Formats: sequence, C-alpha cells, structure tokens
Amino acid sequence: MAEENDIAASADLLSAEEDATDTSSCPLCGGRLVYSPIDRALKCEYCGGKGQIDMSRYGEELNFYDLINAKNNTWANDTHVFRCNNCGAKTVISKKEISKKCPFCGTTNVVQTEELCGLKPNAVLPFLLDKAQACESAVKWAKKRLFSPRKFKKTVYPEEIDGNYIPAFTFDTNTVTHYSGKLGRTKTRTKRVNGKTITESYTEWFSIGGTYRMSFDDFLVQASDSVKQKDVDKLSPFDTNKSQAYSSDYLMGYTAAQYSKSGQECWDYARGVMQEQVKSAILRQYTYDKVGSFSMNMSCNDITYKYVLLPLYVGHYSYSKKLFNFFVNGRNGKVTGKAPVSPLRVGIAVLLGLVAVAGIAALIYFLGIK
Ligand SMILES: [Zn+2]
Ligand SMILES: [Zn+2]
Repeated sequence: MAEENDIAASADLLSAEEDATDTSSCPLCGGRLVYSPIDRALKCEYCGGKGQIDMSRYGEELNFYDLINAKNNTWANDTHVFRCNNCGAKTVISKKEISKKCPFCGTTNVVQTEELCGLKPNAVLPFLLDKAQACESAVKWAKKRLFSPRKFKKTVYPEEIDGNYIPAFTFDTNTVTHYSGKLGRTKTRTKRVNGKTITESYTEWFSIGGTYRMSFDDFLVQASDSVKQKDVDKLSPFDTNKSQAYSSDYLMGYTAAQYSKSGQECWDYARGVMQEQVKSAILRQYTYDKVGSFSMNMSCNDITYKYVLLPLYVGHYSYSKKLFNFFVNGRNGKVTGKAPVSPLRVGIAVLLGLVAVAGIAALIYFLGIK
C-alpha cells in the first residue's frame, strides 16, 4: 500500500515540476519566485525580479449552507499533502513546489501522501512580517520569560523559523435568543427575637425573561490539528476583515497546515462559544448573586463564512538538547509557545510567595486586625 502511494507520489511530482514553469518562475532569470511580505508581491530569490499578485479582490463572505453541501470545491488541483515521518504533522504545499522540510520539527523526513487536502480556501490573510522580523519578535518574547534560565535568555535564537498558513473558518451571524429564568439577590433584614434585634440574610427571587439579539462578525475557529485553538486565541487578533481572495501565489515559499476539522465541526464549536457569550451578556443586565434556573433558545440567522489561511511563523529554539516550539502571528508579531523552565527560579518564586504570605499574616497578628 505504501509502495503504491510512493509511485503515485513520484508521478505527481513530475507533473508538478512541469507545471512549475509558468507564473512561479522569475521573468528575468527563471529562478524561483516566492511571496515577499515586505514587497507584497512575488519576488525572485536570486535576482530580486518581481511578479505581480492581484490584491484588488478581498476574501468574500460565503453562504454557510453552501459550506455544508460543498462537494467539488477541493483544493487538490493546486496543492498536495506531505506527512512528516518524525512528528506526524501534515502540511499542504503548492503543486508548483516540491518536497520541503517539516515546519513543526525541522526534519526533512517528509513524504507525500495521497490524503485529501480538503476544502479549497476562499480567502488568505497574507504575511506582513518577513522571517527576520518574526525572528526578532520571537527573541524578544523569549528574553521576557520570567522562569527561563538566564543562560537560555542570553543566547536564545530560533534554530528554525518558517512561514506556515493555518486553515481557519470565520463565521458571521445574527443571533436571536429567547430566554427565561429565576435569579436571586441576597438581602438582609432585622427582626426582634426575645427582645433582641438580630440581622439575618435571605434571598429575594425574581423572574427574568425576554428576547436578546447579538451579532458576531468574523468569529474565528482554526481548523487544523497542528496548532491548538488556545494558541490561536493567544496570537489573536487576526485582522481577517482584511483578507484577500485566495490565490496559490501566496503559498509560494510557504507551507500550509492540513485542515483536519470540517466546516460543520468548526461551526459547532463556534456556536457553543457564542451561546456562552450570549448567556453572559443576558445575565450581565441584572443584579444577582444566585441563579435559580436559566434556559435559553438561541437561533442563528444569516450565517456566512470565510475559509481563510492565517499567517503563522512556526519555529523552535533548542536548549539542553530539547526543542521548544513557538508561533509568531505573521501580521502583528504576537508570540506564544514553550520555553525552558528553571526549577531554581520557580523555587525562588514559590519561596518569595510563602515569605509574602507569612509577612502579611505577621502584620495582621501584630496590628491586632480582627
Ligand atoms: Zn530572477
Ligand atoms: Zn515534523
């Protein structure tokens, strides 16, 4: 089975190389063109010659029901999928390019697979920062890690860093929610018992109910397994309202993570988070400290989506023979990731915390605060 795949893969690579003569080569020297974030154009790696990209079209909002029913809209015509034999990450690259190293672990142990690359994106948020700028952000971030060893912070420099697009869905919708429930406020009252005045607390319950409307614009859910939603949230905001219409030109010189969650799965996740946000917005209208009961029925109208590629630099530092992955938002330079932790520094922090607690306790004791 694996052998069959390899044969099919090499046949595919040949046709990819034949394709590679048109828009992907330099008009001056025939060298490879890659997308340049600084020039916002295709640029030759050798002579600096430029190729144009049409940036006049923006990523459109599409009807959600077309997403659920989409069948033929596959990305397979202009991309292929590679799997890393070392870490298992799957990446999508333009058919105009051939085998790459894995953006997640840096090894070149990647093989083409026959897996589907899934739905074709209709929008792309192009990189604004180049590799050098992303490196600079990553170094600044690493130097600020409070619990990392001093030696790491002094010498830190990304060992690898590459531009990798992460597939994501953005959703727009107008929600209408009918709700009802019972909330309680704690109150106090005084009464006389056996000739003494005592104060007691009680709960005053009141009913709530009504209709609440809330709109969501470009609610972002990432669709690959290579990055966690938590990390994408930390790197946010992504200015997806500025995304361009998708063109494979933006992939030149970059990889994309393979899509692994369907549009429906991403929508279900989005809807769940939206429901929580609507619920807190409803409850924020009232003064209460207890929830007796609450029920809501949210309907989502006018749902549209964009299937968009988000620009991320993926890289790693190495320290004490271990790799620490990090991600940089390719638009605003925000960084998140892992960094080595010094047990000594954590120990000192815990100790300082204990000293502070003991100090406050002593102060309360000596001042006789009750
Ligand atoms: Zn050239
Ligand atoms: Zn890998």
